[in-house]
Amino acid sequence: MSDKYDVLVIGGGPAGYVAAIRAAQLGMQVACIDKWLDPDDKPSLGGTCLNVGCIPSKALLESSEIFHRAQHEYAEHGVEIGDLGIDVPRMQKRKAKITGELTGGIASLFKANGIEWLQGHGQVQDSGKVAFKPHKGGKKQTLEADNIVIASGSEPVALDIAPFDGEYIVDSSGALAFDEVPGRLGIIGAGYIGVELGSVWSRLGSETVLLEAVEDFLPIADRQIAREALKQFRKQDLDIRLGARVLSAKTKGRGKNKTVVVEYEEGQDKQTAEFDRLIVAVGRRPCTDGLLASGARVELDDKGFISVNDAFRTSLPGVYAIGDVIGGPMLAHKGMEEGSVLAEILAGQKPHINYLTVPSVVYTAPEIAWVGKTEEQVKSEGTPYRTGTIPFAANGRAKALGQQAGMVKLIAHEETDEILGAHMLGPFVSELIQEMVVAMEFRASSEDIARIIHGHPTLSETVHEAALAVDERPIHVAMRRRRKAKS
Ligand code: FAD
Ligand code: NAD
Repeated sequence: MSDKYDVLVIGGGPAGYVAAIRAAQLGMQVACIDKWLDPDDKPSLGGTCLNVGCIPSKALLESSEIFHRAQHEYAEHGVEIGDLGIDVPRMQKRKAKITGELTGGIASLFKANGIEWLQGHGQVQDSGKVAFKPHKGGKKQTLEADNIVIASGSEPVALDIAPFDGEYIVDSSGALAFDEVPGRLGIIGAGYIGVELGSVWSRLGSETVLLEAVEDFLPIADRQIAREALKQFRKQDLDIRLGARVLSAKTKGRGKNKTVVVEYEEGQDKQTAEFDRLIVAVGRRPCTDGLLASGARVELDDKGFISVNDAFRTSLPGVYAIGDVIGGPMLAHKGMEEGSVLAEILAGQKPHINYLTVPSVVYTAPEIAWVGKTEEQVKSEGTPYRTGTIPFAANGRAKALGQQAGMVKLIAHEETDEILGAHMLGPFVSELIQEMVVAMEFRASSEDIARIIHGHPTLSETVHEAALAVDERPIHVAMRRRRKAKS
């Protein structure tokens, strides 16, 4: 352990580990304190994302989708497989192997970059000082650094009316660890986690009910896309109840007969529902408990996020913050970019970060992805715009995949034709959206995309056609022109 570091990072999630690696690449002496312990009580890097977030959820989404396809789609291909079974512990073992490989990968990257991994709890004392308490009762030490980077992330919001008990009423981590398929599954919140984890267990056979407080489904997404997504999810037997205000959730009964009874209001009506398991997925809050010593004057905003300026400086000199703990979209790639940008700022460089082009993806089937402004935002700002929308049903590759639901919608400025937003529902749109992220980053017009060759047959042709549709000239969909053709 060193007497003094150039950079001391608190938190080894996507924001913190990227900041540490980039700072080390730039020649700084770096240490990263992280307190995460895996289910076997072993320290593990990667934070929420690698341990109980992005990666394990995608592993289970993949396993459950394979099962669902085998059950519902293989026969149409002429593939006969007889009786299907699910081995949840084996599915969980696969998930654990994937997360283990990735978290171990971060540890190897730390080693390769000469970053010290300090396993335990960090607390900011004052400018330049951090109290470090190692796991398992090791001696508390005060560490010094020229730059302290807080990347302590976020944790699930708890509801007093539905308190977590770790078994029947659980958060997302609990829902990723079920060792059998719940017969009846309730979920409070139909946001990212609600629909992703709801999809996992519903595909495996849970009767799944999502109770969502607001009347609009996925209010941050474009309305046209969200409406179609809701239709598709309901077709898959996800019972999404909008405008449902939960009043209480309590367990009743004993042993195998124990269930969770939820009371909620839908309009004026009081309803009761009974579930075998209940997931509470109503958002995440910044993780700052025990992070700041009483004398450390790091300002928080009214929601508890750490306040920073454009260069990620907090109110305490020499102390910076990035990732979920500073708010904005609580997404791994947003935190990673902030980590990289901050390290470059500390090295005296002038990097840029463009929050207008942070992509969002919901990994359901069909997937939902977007970047930039929704049609509602553009309209409310009074910006003149045109849209081009093409369904995947007109795409040969989507038909061959048997995944024709959904569409690509592009929004462009009516006068300059600059792309203002891209909104997608369909197969692999998590990958397709990246073309539009690049396009928007380079401030491309819809005409630029329309004039780029897209391989055939690929799903990306739907993006190409949507760009042509902005000018009312798609080739593979008949469209009546409202405007005069350009000469
Ligand atoms: P975190 O990943 O939360 O890491 C913070 C780290 O700091 C943790 O290891 C924590 O133990 C440690 N720490 C905190 N306080 C201290 C302290 N005082 N001392 C020492 N260590 C400390 N995002 C996506 O972009 N794509 C997805 O597909 C996606 N899926 C998700 C699925 C689920 C179920 C969940 C819950 C989240 C998902 N997210 C996804 C969100 C993503 O996980 C977060 O945005 C991301 O992990 C935030 O990164 P971070 O580094 O800011 O914080
Ligand atoms: P969320 O903000 O996405 O959704 C929470 C939902 O719960 C909202 O629709 C909200 O209206 C609803 N809600 C809030 N209080 C409620 C109540 N009392 N009763 C009923 N409904 C209520 O939050 P989340 O799903 O918990 O996910 C947390 C965050 O993690 C996300 O915002 C996202 O940033 C991140 N995440 C991202 C991904 C991804 O990128 N694919 C996946 C999972 C999580």
